[in-house]
Amino acid sequence: MKRIRKILTRFVEWLRPEYKFKFEEDFPESIKENVIYIVGAKKSPWLLAFKCPCGCNQTIQLNLLKDADPCWKFKITARKTINISPSVWRTTGCKSHFVIRNSKTEWVGRKRWKN
Ligand SMILES: [Zn+2]
Repeated sequence: MKRIRKILTRFVEWLRPEYKFKFEEDFPESIKENVIYIVGAKKSPWLLAFKCPCGCNQTIQLNLLKDADPCWKFKITARKTINISPSVWRTTGCKSHFVIRNSKTEWVGRKRWKN
């Protein structure tokens, strides 16, 4: 039984959509799904922009500048995945609460998947 559960867990993990990331000098004209845009000069980006993972189609913008509040950090791992901290908690609209870890969404609050 344990083994089956392990396989199932891996399968669910594999099914979760993975974000790609892309460096952009300027704010992109269109935001594609499952892409996190890292906006600004490559050495000192100031904004992350991506579509909300819940499927509500809203664009989420996260400030990276330490002088402003709230402020987020991101990290590209050796495996070329992206981590964002702290969690994202939308106060308007869908009110999704999640973290992006290893390019994947981990829900903190209400679980909501598109489709
Ligand atoms: Zn949403």
